Amino acid sequence: MKFHVFVFVGVVHFLPLNSGKAVYGNGISQRTFQEIKEEIARYGDVAKAIINLAVYGKARNRSYERLALLVDTVGPRLSGSKSLEKAIQIMHQNLQEDGLENVHLEPVKIPHWERGEESAVMLEPRIHKMAVLGLGSSIGTPPEGITAEVLVVTSFDELQRRAPEARGKIVVYNQPYTNYSRAVQYRVQGAVEAAKVGALASLIRSVASFSIYSPHTGIQEYQDGVPKIPTACITVEDAEMMSRMASRGSRIVIQLKMGAKNYPDADSFNTVAEIIGSKYPEQVVLVSGHLDSWDVGQGAMDDGGGAFISWEALSLIKDLGLRPKRTLRLVLWTAEEQGGIGALQYYQLHKANISNYSLVMESDLGTFLPSGLQFTGSDKARAIVEEVMCLLEPINVTQVFRAGEGTDINFWIQAGVPAQSIRTLIGLSVPASLDNEEPVYLMTCINISPSITPMETP
Ligand SMILES: [Zn+2]
Repeated sequence: MKFHVFVFVGVVHFLPLNSGKAVYGNGISQRTFQEIKEEIARYGDVAKAIINLAVYGKARNRSYERLALLVDTVGPRLSGSKSLEKAIQIMHQNLQEDGLENVHLEPVKIPHWERGEESAVMLEPRIHKMAVLGLGSSIGTPPEGITAEVLVVTSFDELQRRAPEARGKIVVYNQPYTNYSRAVQYRVQGAVEAAKVGALASLIRSVASFSIYSPHTGIQEYQDGVPKIPTACITVEDAEMMSRMASRGSRIVIQLKMGAKNYPDADSFNTVAEIIGSKYPEQVVLVSGHLDSWDVGQGAMDDGGGAFISWEALSLIKDLGLRPKRTLRLVLWTAEEQGGIGALQYYQLHKANISNYSLVMESDLGTFLPSGLQFTGSDKARAIVEEVMCLLEPINVTQVFRAGEGTDINFWIQAGVPAQSIRTLIGLSVPASLDNEEPVYLMTCINISPSITPMETP
């Protein structure tokens, strides 16, 4: 599966550069769509060369092995940790040794939170040691913990209706998993809403479509003027069980202990490398993934895989001796998990040149077997992307879906820059923007409307 992913990224990013016109910005073209389509088709041999190198050639398995070495060596890469900074230094060296151009680090101040020891034990109606993970940025409990009765709710609305019952309790959110974007609100805002009605702490059902008794952490946010209370996630199984117990009228008591601490912001970096464009070096096609991860895994999938296939895209092109007309820029973001901190700073630093950004891409939805691209941009830009994707027919990954996305590229998307992200057949969660997506479709190589002429900037 991974081979397909690598090829996919390489081709997708190379070919728009060689279409000779910016998808966006200052490259207003008078060429007809038919002319552009014909030019893209001429890159069939180049696409095959990239595919062959990645799938059958010396680059086969390379990205997987590079990633495995990093995650085995460094392990998890939490924002503010020494291991994240070690990973950044290793990647800086890797990119230089790979022969990429303009390899450099851009400084960023990032949050530094540490989990510490944590536990949650149900004391009533029976003793039960629960799996628990504190949420990022949560404060800790006093050393003796917080022992309190539980109020189980399934929604913020129910919490409001039962507000008088919440005072002095631990609020447990057993929100149903309808989709990620709705369920994740309980992780992000659960503590604030519980604190507003006088709760001592809050626990959320992990934001996941299925569970094998595994809590799933992520960032949460406090609000100015609202007391900060400790907050953590528990498993789907335990949230469901407490919901059943409560519906029977059982009194539930939990002791929650969390050693979490927030420290002053730490020094970190976005890691950048390029293949400088031959004809329009000032114009940028950006490929990216984030190097940071949570602390309770290896960060191999979220988002080591995305970071490394983005690197691989440049490696493949360099190995073949190709040079795109526009600059192909790799950015490995820092502190994505804390809310796109590195990416926000990058945007603020570089947005003055936004007209030079032809396309931004992030891979942060898993690196499984790809089914296509998610794309955000004008219909005319989409038509070009669909033509480019036709070149991936040899690996049967040609679909173009709606809604290119990524926390780190959202700043650019909001500002109108076309964006792409990989869509895979197997994902850890359904991306938020796919929830109400129109039916999956592909404008195939044979049914593009010839009436889309001439090209215009979106
Ligand atoms: Zn991620």
